[in-house]
Amino acid sequence: MDLFRKCQQYTRVRDFMAKGLYPYFKAIESSRTTEVVIEGRNMLMLGSNNYLGLTGHPKVVEAAIDAVRRYGSGCTGSRFLNGTLDLHVKLEAALADFMGKPAALVFTTGFQANQGTLATIAGKGDVIFSDRDNHASIVDGNRLSFAEVRKYRHGDLAELEEMLSCAKAEGGKLIVTDGVFSMLGDLAPLREIAALAAKYRARLMVDEAHGIGVFGAQGRGAVEHCGILDRSDIIMGTFSKSFASLGGFIVAEREVVDYIKHQARALIFSASPTPASAAAALASLEIIRQEPERREQLWRNARKMKAGFVALGFDTGPGDSPIIPIIIRDEHKTCQCWKMLSEAGIFVNPVVPPAAPGRMSLLRTSYMATHTEAQLDFALDTFGRIGKQLEII
Ligand code: PMP
Repeated sequence: MDLFRKCQQYTRVRDFMAKGLYPYFKAIESSRTTEVVIEGRNMLMLGSNNYLGLTGHPKVVEAAIDAVRRYGSGCTGSRFLNGTLDLHVKLEAALADFMGKPAALVFTTGFQANQGTLATIAGKGDVIFSDRDNHASIVDGNRLSFAEVRKYRHGDLAELEEMLSCAKAEGGKLIVTDGVFSMLGDLAPLREIAALAAKYRARLMVDEAHGIGVFGAQGRGAVEHCGILDRSDIIMGTFSKSFASLGGFIVAEREVVDYIKHQARALIFSASPTPASAAAALASLEIIRQEPERREQLWRNARKMKAGFVALGFDTGPGDSPIIPIIIRDEHKTCQCWKMLSEAGIFVNPVVPPAAPGRMSLLRTSYMATHTEAQLDFALDTFGRIGKQLEII
């Protein structure tokens, strides 16, 4: 059979395109954070992870431009050999200090941070306990690790405990979970998970891609919010969301970071984050530390929207975060709703099986500190009108 036969038979995308319902890979022509231009039209952005709205912040933009002037446009090599800048070292020191951990390690993306860390820290004879709804980068890291992987039902502590209690004593144990789940915006039961980790002498790794900058009194993520920062052995973060840049990192004990730094293939065999990316992340970290009012405004916006959607009658799931899913369930209706919102000038992300947890279809909406009251009211009015038209509410 021809290797490419599956490609020829892959008609799902062409079918959606023919119906005018294809929502992906939309090219953004320009951006003013909460508003973007797509196909020449202004759209309200309700589908970004730019939680603090820092991608357009003058200090962040200036830092990126200055870095390009000083170091050029790229690093052209890996951290391991020719691609470490003093900027990366400074960024690592600032991240470790911020998170209150001995050491940090910067990767080129968050995906690589998860994949590289998991594939390195767990190996043959070890067991990884992983929430079923964890991010794809965790799933891939688990697969590459050669460890035994036990997947527990989303947030199911009883199943996790049963798995932990059955694990062989000899191998190392690692529990890995998203702190904030990226599609439904719900939190892992971190306090209980940390207690289980202690009880069964397992290490704990938490993915804080959507947590850092958003949750916690100082913005240090769901681990801070749940009071388990000191009990999280490895905390992973990304620069592609609140940090308004590109790249990822882990913080952990010095020996753990040193080991991963010299063993992780995703770090050693991939070029380092560009000067502009590292400088923007560093500038964003400063702002995250110095301007807690941005986080407060983000939460005011998120709470207004959650309350607004619930009052309209939408199903927004169990989460309480700036990620608010509009759960529609029916795939076709979800695409129709996306299309009508798009025509009305609102950008959201449709999430359909197999990407959506529990195989449900939803529109993922997410909020920024920089959204205005008027923009959010417009969004609620438009969702209300379209939701009624499609009999979703
Ligand atoms: N973990 C989670 C939970 C994420 O949502 C993402 C990004 N979608 C990543 C990891 C990967 O981060 P990055 O975009 O930096 O590769």
